[in-house]
Amino acid sequence: MTAAPAALHDRALHLLQTIWGYPAFRGVQGEIVQQVAEGGNALVLMPTGGGKSLCYQLPSLLRPGTGIVVSPLIALMKDQVDTLRQNGVRAAFLNSTLLPHEAREVEDALLRGDLDLLYVAPERLLMPRTLDLLERAPVALFAIDEAHCVSQWGHDFRPEYQQLSVLAERFPELPRVALTATADERTRADIKSVLRLEDAPQFVSSFDRPNIQYRVGLKDSPKTQLLHFIREEHPGDAGIVYCLSRKSVEETAKWLQAQGIDALAYHAGLSSTERNNVQERFLNEEGVIVCATVAFGMGIDKPNVRFVAHLDLPKSMEGYYQETGRAGRDGLPSTAWMVYGLSDVVNVRRMLAQSDAPEEVKRVEASKLDALLTYCEAATCRRQVLLHYFGEELSEPCGNCDVCLNPPRVRDLTREAQMALSATIRTGNRFGAAHLTDVLLGRETDKVLAQGHHQLPTFGVGKEHDEKLWRSVLRQLVSLGYLSADDHFGLRATGKSRGILKEGQKLLLREDTLLPGAGKSKRDRASASRAALDSHDAPLFEALRAWRLQKAKELSLPPYTIFHDATLKTIAELRPGSHATLGTVSGVGGRKLAAYGDEVLQVVRDSSGGGQAGPENLLDSPAFDPAVRGARNNNAVLDVLGSKGELQPQPKPAHPGVLGALRELRRTLAAEQGRSLSWVFPEATIDELARKLPTRSEELKDVFGLGGQRIQAFGDRILATIRAELTGGAPSPAPSAPAALFDEAVPPAPNADLSEALRELRRELMKETGYSAFVVFTNATLEALAARQPRTLAELAEVPGLGEKRIEAYGERILDAINTVLDG
Ligand code: ADP
Ligand code: MG
Repeated sequence: MTAAPAALHDRALHLLQTIWGYPAFRGVQGEIVQQVAEGGNALVLMPTGGGKSLCYQLPSLLRPGTGIVVSPLIALMKDQVDTLRQNGVRAAFLNSTLLPHEAREVEDALLRGDLDLLYVAPERLLMPRTLDLLERAPVALFAIDEAHCVSQWGHDFRPEYQQLSVLAERFPELPRVALTATADERTRADIKSVLRLEDAPQFVSSFDRPNIQYRVGLKDSPKTQLLHFIREEHPGDAGIVYCLSRKSVEETAKWLQAQGIDALAYHAGLSSTERNNVQERFLNEEGVIVCATVAFGMGIDKPNVRFVAHLDLPKSMEGYYQETGRAGRDGLPSTAWMVYGLSDVVNVRRMLAQSDAPEEVKRVEASKLDALLTYCEAATCRRQVLLHYFGEELSEPCGNCDVCLNPPRVRDLTREAQMALSATIRTGNRFGAAHLTDVLLGRETDKVLAQGHHQLPTFGVGKEHDEKLWRSVLRQLVSLGYLSADDHFGLRATGKSRGILKEGQKLLLREDTLLPGAGKSKRDRASASRAALDSHDAPLFEALRAWRLQKAKELSLPPYTIFHDATLKTIAELRPGSHATLGTVSGVGGRKLAAYGDEVLQVVRDSSGGGQAGPENLLDSPAFDPAVRGARNNNAVLDVLGSKGELQPQPKPAHPGVLGALRELRRTLAAEQGRSLSWVFPEATIDELARKLPTRSEELKDVFGLGGQRIQAFGDRILATIRAELTGGAPSPAPSAPAALFDEAVPPAPNADLSEALRELRRELMKETGYSAFVVFTNATLEALAARQPRTLAELAEVPGLGEKRIEAYGERILDAINTVLDG
């Protein structure tokens, strides 16, 4: 019973637009959805923030049964489920945080087929009881999120994940989709073998995150550098600061707090309650900064993390990429900022050498660290180096990293490198960078004298340079693998150094700049989320954020589950004047439009000053063809139509008298026709009429929402109403309305009062059941009820979207509501 591919794709797109409010799929998302919805397996490699969730959420809605999502992060399941419920998706989770009776309720809902998505922790899934339950339940698919956890090579190895091979054994007929942001070959091979995805198609999307600005600089006084960065570029923004040790996490957080920054510490040494509190505050409040070890972050879906800062080096490129990837999931400008110095380089090299992992593992880790250090020392575009590591080539420098913005000088430092290597070897391959620098500079310290190093030929050969240069040369030699570090931070020349000492190999090194600088002006960089807005829109954006925070508190939800920053930003730019326009904004799906539309429009109106209901923007104007709505989100629309300034000639305010009179007329027409108000014409049409004040019938034809049939049917009455209002007279009497204005092709329109009554009933039922509106019955069902007006249980059963369960639970009350409206 497979639907034709095109039809499936259309249905998928329709759900994307109505439930999530997104205009289009991103990259390969559409193909993945199709593959999985048709029952196929898939391996999905997509960067953090790339949009993996939709790749299993949408197929779960398209296929009968519940999508089972295996996710390693119990603490985040509630959040993921809340986000989905906000969109009206029937989601739940099953993990050890639930009380037994709560878990039973979820299990019952699963068995009844009342869930679209169920998140399960791997431990829970693997319990025999759960596996049995799944065999009895209607399951749509299995999604294995963070699938790299199966691999010992990855950084988040979870032994339970390896047992997920049971899924292929016990449920061979159900599709499995594995998703990860870790792309290296070994991890990929492990995922395929454990999850039996050897033959599954792989979907790899670009690992580029163009909205993240990569910056790496030299460590000088790290805390002060960090503070400066936060104050200058991200005041009031949420961010993560990664440190290597618990101690430095604590110290950094304390220090930032003392500077008046809202910073918290997070590491594995805290109790789970403390950690949860930090996580909650980070998710639920705006502008919290978490200082953390790598223990923090996996699976945190907070979309508006504006920066990720590293005060210590990560251990691999993979780690760096994953951690920095937590910035800017919402696609808005964000910063990945890092400082490091010689001692960091020596330190990580030493830690690696000391670890007692098997030799092979150590070799792999060493090569990952090498790659990271090469990246740090790079004098070419950072993004090119980063993407190259993940097997992608970027043909042009990106223009959005410190190297592109502020190109470092590169010098031939072969001679200096030879001096430094020679000093290392002649002092016996065991002294640290500080002592070697003293030798090179010819300083007669106690240690130098005690060791007799003042008698070496290399003593003082480097006097022409200063200490800073020597530390930089030594650091780069360690980073690039010409020197290695022992347990006591002593440096030793490696085999690789031969090339420089004996074989005439040249070495081009970068001249250090102190700050991980960006070439942009300060104003441009100030608070990335706000920077992208021009000053005209900024106050409205802030007002919308304040409204969102308030709302989030009322509902005890993280603010971003209500709307993302990117969505608020678009609203601030578009200034929608109606539900119809608001609904075109990316991120505003049907459920959110119904739940928050009125309040958001009110915030927009309040901030526009005049309190006029008139829409201020293009989308509400006739020039805007609703067909272009696909381009909703942003500049695409503006590009099509010219620059923003031209698009918003001072809008003419709506004539209040005409506005009122037209609403009255619409009510009359609706009653005469037995149709809903919006069927007569939408609010946007009234807005426009009241601004343009047409008085001749040819002026009506380019008004939004008025087609030829409607103009023919009540164009005269519209014109008469406007004229009467403008001249202060009474409208000419209504001609007796023809029995049916339009031909039978028009589908029955719902009764407006009945719609309202049903909506009210649904609100009651939501309160009683705790379900979201979508779960009680969908808008489509509501419209169908209002149009068909069933009077008996049998008629009710004919209405699409009302199964036996619902009719049993509240069928009588639906009939009551209908009877009350129609009979009384
Ligand atoms: P991942 O799991 O790959 O890290 P998510 O699934 O959490 O990423 O998605 C990252 C962000 O991108 C989310 O905020 C999501 O709502 C948004 N997003 C995903 N797909 C789309 C799309 N097609 N259009 C607009 N936004 C999208
Ligand atoms: Mg994810």
